[in-house]
Amino acid sequence: MDSIWVLLIPLPCTKGGQVYDVDPEADTVIIVPPGTEPFAPWDPKSDQIQNGSKNALSQSGVRINVSSRHLTLASGIFRRKLNHFSRNTSVQPDGRIHLYTSQRFDPRAAAIVMNAVHAKGFKMPKAVDLETLAQIAFFADTFGLLEAVSVYVELWALKLQGQFPEIYNRDLILWIYISHVFRLDEPFKAATRIAAIYSDGPIRNLGLPLQHGVVAAIDVRRQELVARSLSTVYGILDSLSGGAATCDESHCDSLLLGTLIKLLSKKGILWPRPAKPFTGVSYTAIIDDMARLSQHLGGRAAKAVNGVNGTTKHHANGTNGVHVNGVNGVHKPLTKTSKGQGGEVHLSGTHPGKPAVHHCGAMRLVAGFGQLDALADEVEGVELETV
Ligand SMILES: [Zn+2]
Repeated sequence: MDSIWVLLIPLPCTKGGQVYDVDPEADTVIIVPPGTEPFAPWDPKSDQIQNGSKNALSQSGVRINVSSRHLTLASGIFRRKLNHFSRNTSVQPDGRIHLYTSQRFDPRAAAIVMNAVHAKGFKMPKAVDLETLAQIAFFADTFGLLEAVSVYVELWALKLQGQFPEIYNRDLILWIYISHVFRLDEPFKAATRIAAIYSDGPIRNLGLPLQHGVVAAIDVRRQELVARSLSTVYGILDSLSGGAATCDESHCDSLLLGTLIKLLSKKGILWPRPAKPFTGVSYTAIIDDMARLSQHLGGRAAKAVNGVNGTTKHHANGTNGVHVNGVNGVHKPLTKTSKGQGGEVHLSGTHPGKPAVHHCGAMRLVAGFGQLDALADEVEGVELETV
């Protein structure tokens, strides 16, 4: 569908509305229709950018006064559209060609891009928030104007690094989209890595024209990570049920086996064991489940040794065991809920300061959960040149 329409008949109703004067001697007007739909919604029910309709032409939109010369130099889309219509037939009563965008855009983002196209550097903002940056990316991407604004985008993105998301959320998708269209290597690698670690299926596109190749490359990494994690978990399950990890002191093996079976059964992944594409399974969910399981096992084992008042303290190898390389190279904790997994379980004795250390085959398997943390460190973000 055309991203822009040229009005060929005079429509007085297109007058009015807010005006951005990018070029005071404008021979062209870009009219952005009004709209109230949220931009790039997370909710899948409204996961589509709402298209404008020709009925919307009857409403006044935001008018951006521009020069056709700058537009045609900067964008093939505008060049083809403007060259296709002769000025004789398409000039409106105000002496200008009216271009009507067929989608709703943020008028401020559109005006910022147009200022860049017209080399109005002094009008460019020193910083923008992530929302505006995404809107700028969407407008520039739609009309082939990425190059005109890219030098500014690099500066704005640098200033936003401190707010880089650490989990899979809407902001993360916006970063993936922005860094992909503007070819920002470091943020793209960091954001796609976090998405692979946290997502439980192909990432949402929020209705943005996010390339399928990007979504697929992230999901390949997620599937690989989930496969390796589940392989560790099922390896522990098989060792326990095969009697390879026994406990002669307090039946830790039976406790662990029973708890693990219940947990996997509740998740619906006891049998059959899931296979690729592991829809609905995320690496972080596995990590959190195993952390809870080892805490639970530690508590039960403590009671078996010390009676009901026994307490258990895990050496929290996993507290910060999983890290994400942020765009600035600073390690950030991946999750705050993966405490207490891995490592040996120390069971407090009756004398404070003299913990009774319990070693057995089952406890060594619990320590094996700690290996799951390390898997995230091996995940590489997607390289821009591959998508
Ligand atoms: Zn034991």
